[in-house]
Parts: sequence; C-alpha cells; structure tokens
Amino acid sequence: MADEKFDAIVVGAGPSGLAAAITMAKAGLEVALLERGSFAGSKNVMGGIFYRHPLDTIVPEFWKTAPVERPIIEQRYWMLGDQGHVGGGVRSQTFDGDKPNCWSVLRAKFDRWLAEQAEAAGVMILTEAKVESLLQKDGMVVGVHTLLDDGDLNADVVVIAEGVNSILLRDMGIHPEIKPNQVATIVKEVISLAPEKIEDRFNVEKGQGISIELLGTPSQGGVGMGFLYTNKDSLSIGMGVLVSDLARLKLKPNDLLENLKNHPSIRPLIAGGKTEEYLAHFIPEGGYNAVPRQIHGNGWVAIGDSVMLVNSVHREGSNLAVKSGILAAEAIVAAKKKGDFSAATLAVYRQALDASFVMKDLAKYKGLSHFMETNPQLFSVYPNLINDAATEMFTVDGVSKREKQGRILKMVKERRGLFGAALDAIKGGLNAR
Ligand SMILES: Cc1cc2nc3c(=O)[nH]c(=O)nc-3n(C[C@H](O)[C@H](O)[C@H](O)COP(=O)(O)OP(=O)(O)OC[C@H]3O[C@@H](n4cnc5c(N)ncnc54)[C@H](O)[C@@H]3O)c2cc1C
Repeated sequence: MADEKFDAIVVGAGPSGLAAAITMAKAGLEVALLERGSFAGSKNVMGGIFYRHPLDTIVPEFWKTAPVERPIIEQRYWMLGDQGHVGGGVRSQTFDGDKPNCWSVLRAKFDRWLAEQAEAAGVMILTEAKVESLLQKDGMVVGVHTLLDDGDLNADVVVIAEGVNSILLRDMGIHPEIKPNQVATIVKEVISLAPEKIEDRFNVEKGQGISIELLGTPSQGGVGMGFLYTNKDSLSIGMGVLVSDLARLKLKPNDLLENLKNHPSIRPLIAGGKTEEYLAHFIPEGGYNAVPRQIHGNGWVAIGDSVMLVNSVHREGSNLAVKSGILAAEAIVAAKKKGDFSAATLAVYRQALDASFVMKDLAKYKGLSHFMETNPQLFSVYPNLINDAATEMFTVDGVSKREKQGRILKMVKERRGLFGAALDAIKGGLNAR
C-alpha cells in the first residue's frame, strides 16, 4: 500500500468526510477514507437531528433506505424555569411530505449506513486506522502517516474531516488548542420507551417525531442548552455547557443532565424509560469567529467540525458538515482536472464555502456567541424571570391585568433593572438580526 497513490485520502468517517468521499468517488476519483473507530459512527455523537438537505444532492432519496428514526414534524423551543416552562414552536405536516425536512437519527447506525453508500460508490474505507500525522514534501501535503502495518499512504490531496479538536490541524498550526469558550461539553442519554408511549406523550401520529430545544435553569447559569428528541423506540436527551463556564461555575456535565431529567416539564416525558446509552462529546460553539482563517493549503482541505462549522443557534452542524464536504470535493475534482493541488487552486473551496449558506448563516450570527458568553444574566436571571412573569400574567386571582403588568415591571427592576433589560433586548436583537 505504501507505493500506491490515491487521488484523495479522507481522514474521518463522519458526515463531512463521507460526503466528500462519496462526491469524489462518484466523479471517478480513487479515494481512501481512514476512520479511527471500529466502524464509521462507532465514536460519533449527535443529538441528533439530520437534515435532508444537502445529503440528498449526492445520495438522492437517501431516507428511503437509510436508518433514520422519525421525521420531525414539530420543533418546540422551551425556556425552563424552576417550576415549568414558557414555550413556542412550529408544527407542520409539510415537514413530513414527499421530501421531509429532517429526521432524528442515531449516529452509530446512520454513519455506518452512509459508509456503505461510500463503499458502493467505490471508496476504500479502512477502519481502526487512526491518522497520526500528515506527510509533507516540498511544502505540499502528500499523504498520511498511520500506525497500521505498512502505514504511510500517499495522495494528491488530504481531506481533514476529523471533527472537533483536529490533531492534524493543530500540528500544522492552523488551529491552536481549542479555546474553552468556543466548545461545549455535551452529555447525552438514549432512553428506551415504547413507540406508542412516545406517540401519546409527544402528540404525534404513528412514526412521526418532534424535537424540543431547551434553555434555562438546568444549566445553572452556564451558557448552554439541552435537547429532547424522539427516536423510533427511544428518546435522546442531552445537556451541554461551554467548557469555560463548567470551570467558572464549577459545574459537572452529568449533574446538569440530571437537573434536566428531573425538571418538572421533562420528568413526565421520560418517565418509565430505561437508560440504554450514555455518551459525551464536544460541540463547536464559537460560530463564525472560531472558523480558522486558513481552511485549505497546498495539498489539503479541512471540512466540518474540524474547522468549527456549527450553527448552534439553529442546531445545525451535520448539514454544514455535509455541504463543506461536497464543496471541498468539487474543488478537488476541478484540481484533478488541472493536475494542480496547490493552495491557489484549492482556494475554490473557500470561495464556494463563503458563497454558500454555511458561511452566510455563520456570519449572520457572528456576534451572538460573544454576546451570550459575556452576558451571563441571559442564562442566570432570565429563565426564572420570564417564567415568573408569564405565570403572574396567567394566574387568575382577582388582580387586574394592568396591576399584574406593574408587578412584572417590579420583578424586572429588582432582578435585572429596567435599563439593563432594555439594553439586553437591544443587544440581543442586534446580534440575532
Ligand atoms: C451532543 C451533540 C448534539 C448534536 N446535535 C446535532 C443535531 O441535532 N443536528 C445537527 O445537524 N448537528 C448536531 N450536532 C453537530 C454534529 O454532530 C456535527 O456538526 C457533525 O457530526 C460534524 O461532522 P464531521 O464529519 O465534521 O465530524 P464528526 O461527526 O465528529 O466525525 C469525525 C470522524 O473522524 C474520526 N477521526 C477523528 N480523528 C481521526 C484520526 N486522526 N484518524 C482517523 N479518524 C479520525 C472520528 O472517529 C469520527 O468518525 C451535535 C453535536 C453533538 C456533540
């Protein structure tokens, strides 16, 4: 194998690496994909909601054969206070039409299936094959070094798809150590529950599902959020907080997940379920400002979480990973035609990414991560304030509504100050424009 040269080597069999590998193989390139886990997906964790777009552009109608769990017909957003929640959401049958919007998935099953599609397209997948470092010659990346027997592999180009905390990018000096305020530690449980109970409790028809995004008191003031998603016969529940806030507030991720599971709005939804799996993972949270300046170079490109492409406002990561994989692969296919894998030629990837929804969406919320991190009252004061204000307004006790408005203003004054609250609203609005 040491003498063999591939057109491209992909490092990592997550959605980004698999999308890149499939796109290149379908264009006729010889592609090897190296995955450190015992199978694709074995080490991967996601909430997880997987979107139809853009995977269906390279694997048309994939949901008809892929192991997806439930199409998500309703997305709920709840702000949790100590005693309950204030919420909203969007529900539509169109989310489960001919082309559903998204599904809940379990990554160990889903990634394995996607890897089979890559193999069917001609990709050579090596598992239990951790890439230790990049091979470089005359300023070009020319392959990878592994600890496999005969373990150096050569290629015209290497696609770095290692996920968050990429060692290859760190070794090249592209990514310094991950900043604790740019990643969250998320812990997740998969809780088994009978399908009929899921459908009853979450008010959906047979086979359909919902997602609930959860902000509020369970994070104990830390910048972070939780989720609860319905699978076929299980629920995925998780909670995560910025690593910097875990240290600042001396919080333990597992305690936060227990807070969530014991919350009065959540407890009845998971009651009687049995924890089948416990998982933990980092998720990039830095948004636009955390994306490294350099995401390609001579003989290499980097995609997905390895370059922090996650839009946490909309809980989108896997779709950004797939899109970046497709765009990088298209740039490599064009470079192959030119026979030139220099940074100048591969810059097409950066240009296409900038022009796509990926960077446009990250740019839209450019200031939001910093705003949330530097305004801890959003996570410490507001969850109970909003819940208490709503509870006051909806409690019928002979007090007039105008007087209740006065009481609410008093709450705001005491807990945050009128000026502070007005400023928070303006700054929040400006950062989410
Ligand atoms: C708890 C949680 C919930 C999430 N929920 C959602 C959600 O609901 N919807 C959504 O769209 N996104 C969600 N995300 C984000 C989403 O999971 C990621 O954006 C996406 O998985 C990124 O894909 P990737 O291919 O870039 O990286 P990954 O999926 O992390 O894949 C990287 C792969 O590379 C392998 N690897 C790493 N290093 C090496 C090496 N040196 N050699 C060989 N192999 C290597 C790993 O084993 C892994 O298989 C969530 C993330 C977390 C942690």
